Amino acid sequence: MENKKEMRKWLDDMNLGHPLVIAGPCSAETEDQVLKIAHQLKDTDVSYYRAGIWKPRTRPGNFEGVGAIGLKWLQKVKEETGLKTATEVANRAHVDLALEYDVDLLWIGARSTVSPFIIQEIADALEGTDKIVLVKNPVNPDLSLWLGAVERLHTANIEKLGVIHRGFSTYEKTKYRNIPEWQLAIELQTKFPDLPIINDPSHITGKRDMIFDVSQTALDLNFDGLMIETHCDPDNAWSDAAQQVTPERLVQIMRDLRIRKETDEEAEYNNKLNNLRTQIDVLDNQLIELLGKRMKVSDGIGELKKQKNVAVLQSNRWNAILGNMILEGEQRGLSEEFVLKMFKAIHQESINHQEKIINA
Ligand code: PEP
Ligand code: MN
Repeated sequence: MENKKEMRKWLDDMNLGHPLVIAGPCSAETEDQVLKIAHQLKDTDVSYYRAGIWKPRTRPGNFEGVGAIGLKWLQKVKEETGLKTATEVANRAHVDLALEYDVDLLWIGARSTVSPFIIQEIADALEGTDKIVLVKNPVNPDLSLWLGAVERLHTANIEKLGVIHRGFSTYEKTKYRNIPEWQLAIELQTKFPDLPIINDPSHITGKRDMIFDVSQTALDLNFDGLMIETHCDPDNAWSDAAQQVTPERLVQIMRDLRIRKETDEEAEYNNKLNNLRTQIDVLDNQLIELLGKRMKVSDGIGELKKQKNVAVLQSNRWNAILGNMILEGEQRGLSEEFVLKMFKAIHQESINHQEKIINA
């Protein structure tokens, strides 16, 4: 899939303002709930009203969505408020019904993106549609799986395509429900700068008080829009209660976010930016050089261990290094998470080097 400029044309042409805002409840629960929230969102920055009709739940026994009847409620939303509508589709039957009821934006959920069979079925059902189709990242941090889904839809002649970054699941307990792994979204943006990308801070955080910060980070990284779960009575929502915000809170979030421009033509700004970027380039080169030197020293240790037939890994020594570096990092404004990740990677490279020497 080449990076076609037309990829983002639909978004620019629609003139929806920046950022594009998609909001509404995790799930459509009742007609009253759907319409109540829609009316509360009517005169805000929200362009698309989302509501899950079919809910993919990790475990059975939870609320699995109201089904097709909810599509009638979404139609009412459009008639009564003028908001465009959005829902998740996960198979051909969903697509046929969503198109029949004229839903304006269809998204593909994280649990569907992992399956090329499902994606192909959805792509075939959507062939040639002029509806907007957004692909959520797969639950696992796999860029090819995500891009593969976009490619299948692109091949099915769907022109209004984009992606939603909703974070990735991990076995480790973190402060997020789904860790953002921002570098993956950045890699995707670097490969396809014209593919619209929306952030979903609700599913990334799982907690409403973290939504503002994640949204700000997304805007700082040039995301095109936000999808934020919004409910009239979040605590009593039938799904994802902890992460939904009220319409009032959503308006406040949108008011407080600092909206960034992609760039600025002004000469002084450009001079300063170039200067800082040159400094970064110099420092990055020094970093690589230093890491190279560090590996040479590590090779020397490998030679010594080989002579004495000593194992490559000495975990006491390694834990001491980590502890020291976390403290040092802290004093220089580096987060523990970053220092740990970086040193784990450096350590792994050292081990690989020493393994090679010992087994040579
Ligand atoms: C949702 O948007 O409500 C949803 C189920 O999302 P995800 O596919 O990201 O889990
Ligand atoms: Mn949800």
